[in-house]
Amino acid sequence: MDIHTTISGLRSRLAAARAAGQRIAFVPTMGYLHEGHLGLVDVAREEADLVVMSIFVNPLQFQPGEDFERYPRDYAHDRALAEARHVDILFVPELGEMYGSADQTRVVPGEASVRWEGEYRPGHFDGVLTVVAKLLNIVQPNVLVLGQKDIQQVTVIRRMLIELDWSVRLRVVPTSREADGLARSSRNVYLSAEERVAALALSRSLRAVEAAFERGERRADALRQVAHEVLEAAPDLITDYIAVADPERLAPVERVDIGTVVAVAGRVGATRLIDNVILGDEDV
Ligand code: AMP
Repeated sequence: MDIHTTISGLRSRLAAARAAGQRIAFVPTMGYLHEGHLGLVDVAREEADLVVMSIFVNPLQFQPGEDFERYPRDYAHDRALAEARHVDILFVPELGEMYGSADQTRVVPGEASVRWEGEYRPGHFDGVLTVVAKLLNIVQPNVLVLGQKDIQQVTVIRRMLIELDWSVRLRVVPTSREADGLARSSRNVYLSAEERVAALALSRSLRAVEAAFERGERRADALRQVAHEVLEAAPDLITDYIAVADPERLAPVERVDIGTVVAVAGRVGATRLIDNVILGDEDV
């Protein structure tokens, strides 16, 4: 595995690969890798000759008071995991390398960023789009691989790719879960044993919604109520939102169909967690 810490070093390595006709797939991450990230690597491998992963904890997407400083980091372990999963190129830039002279320009998302996560994390998606735009310009991949776990991020990035005429293909990989249903997340490490039990209500609520959908329920309000009852029964979980929304723009819908997104977010102690399903998928 090649490891690059500079933009120029990575660029020349990738220029040579492109000149040799290699297709490039790119997996951006914030590190503290788990099986969810590594599943993206497997999909990237199906799509391309060269798999590039980045590890960069992007300060722009954290709001003041969020967990940027304490976000879990373990570079040595990440590096070993990436290598074992046959990542070809690991890009690990320092903060100054990414943002040294970049203190003015931001990529601003539209309507799809306003609700849900956007409400609880104002400015978050500006930070996400800005770093993704930079990384795409640096790596210039044929394929970008993202996780469905962060479904609003996927939607906002997809809008950017379409609306700013990027020619990169987007592959979205279903959420990887622990055996008990908890969606894998770097932030799960924050959870105590009791908090982890409370956190399970998120995926349980989504399973209940899926079961109601399979029984024929098509009213968004009724499905929101199904999720609400499960979440409410977990006293240590504070629900932020239950979104029932169209997959294209994440606008709320009144009636659901195959493909409708149901997304939940909540807080357990100091940890904020999100999860979602796409109705009709066999995911949760
Ligand atoms: P992060 O390091 O949390 O920024 O995530 C990097 C990429 O991995 C994003 O595209 C995430 O959506 C994806 N990802 C994170 N957790 C999971 C998971 N449990 N299943 C699938 N993809 C995931």
